[in-house]
Amino acid sequence: MSVSPQTKPTSSPGEGEWVNRFARLPEAFFERPAPAPFPGAHCLATSPTMTARLGLSPEAFHADPWLGACTRGSALAGTDPVASVYAGHQFGVLVPQLGDGRAKLLGELCTPAGEHWELQVKGAGPTRFSRGADGRAVLRSSIREYLVSEAMAALGIPTTRAVALFGSSLRVMRERIEPGAIVLRAAPSFLRFGHFEYFHYNGYSGRLAELLDYALGHDYPELREAEDPVAALLEAVIARTARMIADWQAVGFCHGVMNTDNMSLLGLTIDYGPFAFMDAYDPGYICNHTDQGGRYAFDQQPQIAQWNLIRLAETLVCSFADPTREAAIERAQDLLQQFLPQYEQAWMAHMRAKLGLRDTQPDDRALIDELLARMAAEGVDYTRFFRQLPELDDPATHAMLEAELEEVEAWRAWWTRYQARRAQDTRSAETREAAMHAVNPKFVLRNHLAQEAIDQAEAGDASGVLKLQEILARPFDEQPEHERYAGLPPAWASGIQLSCSS
Ligand code: AMP
Ligand code: MG
Repeated sequence: MSVSPQTKPTSSPGEGEWVNRFARLPEAFFERPAPAPFPGAHCLATSPTMTARLGLSPEAFHADPWLGACTRGSALAGTDPVASVYAGHQFGVLVPQLGDGRAKLLGELCTPAGEHWELQVKGAGPTRFSRGADGRAVLRSSIREYLVSEAMAALGIPTTRAVALFGSSLRVMRERIEPGAIVLRAAPSFLRFGHFEYFHYNGYSGRLAELLDYALGHDYPELREAEDPVAALLEAVIARTARMIADWQAVGFCHGVMNTDNMSLLGLTIDYGPFAFMDAYDPGYICNHTDQGGRYAFDQQPQIAQWNLIRLAETLVCSFADPTREAAIERAQDLLQQFLPQYEQAWMAHMRAKLGLRDTQPDDRALIDELLARMAAEGVDYTRFFRQLPELDDPATHAMLEAELEEVEAWRAWWTRYQARRAQDTRSAETREAAMHAVNPKFVLRNHLAQEAIDQAEAGDASGVLKLQEILARPFDEQPEHERYAGLPPAWASGIQLSCSS
């Protein structure tokens, strides 16, 4: 199942036009934020893929009207900027009103190819939903969001996209004074679970019905004719979320802040904050320094996604078509019970592919679990191990790995099982290796790589961002000239601390 933007409905407007369907909802859904100054605004980077998809030239973002519209809130013909209201469970606690505190939806663009993209600026100044904060984003977190959005897309993982990154002479106060920045991001829809929670928990049932009608029309038009469209919506969100989480776990991605306001109705990875791609494999890895209890630890992500889906279901169940509340609840429970098996199936498919196994065997789960236990015990680098797995058939390379391991006997036992299992595959070694390299990335956005590009950019040179962007656009290619970017993290990387401060 792909999460691609909707194709143009038959009654759609002409090419490259703003349609702004969200801004046509009643004012209870948003405010129209005031423009805010962004001194010294300049475009630092643009995504070649996304600018092309939007039918825009990268140069457009270096000058007005786009530069001004993205950074200072100056008018861009056809747009209708709004900041939306939502709620959310943050670290398990309901916050009845949140909203786009620093994001502004410029509008919804129907591209020349007929795709619909919502364009949003993040860090462009305060809105009614800023709750006393400054409405800004720092360069550090903006670079991370910009790069990882495009990196995730290249890995084939559903995500919001980045279109452009803007720097400025604005200074923003966090733990230290930092340069402010803005990311222009894009998604078919920026609806979050939290949008539904806002209207549900505040008792605005009429508005909730309007939101559901909007979400079905805008994001899931194929479900409008379903027997029970709202139940079908929940089912679809469950399926997409299961797929997204399986994708995360397979590449060792840790989101860091899986609050319900950071969960997309389209099952897109959204709101990148203290995320990380794991270096050494550690199932209990916590990437967010603020998350001391490990609520959002790597191995908790599937359960947390299910918990979040239950929160979404609570807001939707009253709108199911079932004749009684009991029947609706039972149906919701049945749907929710599909989440973990769906996740598990998708994750197993990923792991088999990573190991170069094609068909399904009953002992595969045990084989994978044993490998992960070995990797955790030895702190093996997650990305490099899978990428280099085909090379371990070479005795010299194998001996080099063993020289680094503590429990060589346990490793050899696993390797023997793995070889026996793999022997059932009739493909040539070359074919299998190519298939494994197509699913095991060589390049991921490791924290230390992002940090190097950030340090350089803060000193006035954004070339490191552009370089990483280029490399991460082809994560499965060998790119021998970029070997350094596929290396183990340096010792200083363990000192990097990521928090919610962004
Ligand atoms: P996050 O944890 O980044 O997803 O943010 C949670 C909520 O806080 C969202 O509603 C954001 O819009 C809001 N928020 C975060 N940082 C800021 C900021 N600097 N200014 C205004 N609102 C913010
Ligand atoms: Mg958020």
